[in-house]
Amino acid sequence: MFTPKEVKRILFTEDEISRYVNSLGERLTCDYSEKNPLFVCVLKGACVFFSDLIRRVECPLEIAFLSAESYCGTQSTGEVELSFDKLPEISGRYVVLVEDIVDTARTLSLVKEKLAARNPASIKVCCLLDKPSRRVVSGFTADYTGVEIDDLFVVGYGLDYDQRFRNLPYIGILEEP
Ligand code: 5GP
Ligand code: MG
Repeated sequence: MFTPKEVKRILFTEDEISRYVNSLGERLTCDYSEKNPLFVCVLKGACVFFSDLIRRVECPLEIAFLSAESYCGTQSTGEVELSFDKLPEISGRYVVLVEDIVDTARTLSLVKEKLAARNPASIKVCCLLDKPSRRVVSGFTADYTGVEIDDLFVVGYGLDYDQRFRNLPYIGILEEP
């Protein structure tokens, strides 16, 4: 297995991740079976999770992409850059925003606010990981969460450190706190 020397510990193995993804897929299948939802991947970090998740949702759906950047190294910059270039018309649609991890929640609260202005029927958030102890936007919760984690900087399964490690099939920690 490809394990870069910077990865100190594996937090979730491939099997553990797929159990979380399966369970999210089952819940979404129940909730969206009659709604032809639009699943929106928040690039780049959510790309791996997104591609696994949509294959666990057993009902008709469409997909779309938007891009959001806020991290520099292991620090959230506090400024979020969004690009909606590839997003179709969402008016009247049931939108599910798919994100790798919710941290301060600045990114998702901004994305939700911008998308809400386009009059979708509903917007829900599905994330694989959640770090509730890091919240800056108070009261923000995801509608579907794979698993909550402590205040750790994680990489792999789409998540990067300065654009590296996205291709690891597991989720690991670079430095122990
Ligand atoms: P937020 O706006 O909630 O602070 O951060 C959201 C984005 O920051 C996530 O989508 C992710 O791209 C990045 N991020 C937050 N925590 C981590 C982490 O532990 N590891 C990595 N690689 N990225 C993170
Ligand atoms: Mg992300």
